[in-house]
Amino acid sequence: MTDELITGFEEFKRYQYDENSEQAIMPRLVEEGQSPRYFLISCIDSRANPGTIFRARPGTFFAHKAMGAIVRPYKQGTALAAALQFALDYNKVEKIVVLGHTNCGAMKALADNIEDPEISSFIEVAQQALVRAKSSCGCESDQEKLLDKTVEETVLESSKNLMSYPSVKRAVEEGRAQIVPWVFEMRKGDLLEYNYESQAFEKITTHSNNSDSRQQA
Ligand SMILES: [Zn+2]
Repeated sequence: MTDELITGFEEFKRYQYDENSEQAIMPRLVEEGQSPRYFLISCIDSRANPGTIFRARPGTFFAHKAMGAIVRPYKQGTALAAALQFALDYNKVEKIVVLGHTNCGAMKALADNIEDPEISSFIEVAQQALVRAKSSCGCESDQEKLLDKTVEETVLESSKNLMSYPSVKRAVEEGRAQIVPWVFEMRKGDLLEYNYESQAFEKITTHSNNSDSRQQA
């Protein structure tokens, strides 16, 4: 069933290519090239697609998707390693966002000890996150809370693993880029950012709060 994709594409084309559309920036981007400031690592979940939830215009961010927004430790020649190198060394990406989300199927599979080697061998990297979630939230009997905490811990684990990528390490150490851990809280529709000082994920306030500098991020 591809009809809804075609309908969506027609709408996109109307907005982005029609010379009467104020939002049409694609012709300029094609002409001048792209220069995204963000590199987003997100889950494959169809409800947490960054292109949808950030209502991003073309040219806003590079995107990489993996189950649970999991970043495994660096290995040369992976899709993510090449993409990060391209984004950081040959483009001007300033922020690498790791975007986890609540109600994540990957976290549930992890907590449920899924017996599918193809999936479990990939998400095993989040195993430590689950262990930490269990010990820190004391909420083993509350499945929803435990999974939410596991999502947060996985985003932090992935953010830590990002530093094992040479391109990321260089960019962060030279002050050219920073890693931003985010969680999309899907039930309420909130965006949370990890605060390194308070060591907790905190809700990002809306644009009406101009004093919040994170809005400029
Ligand atoms: Zn997910």
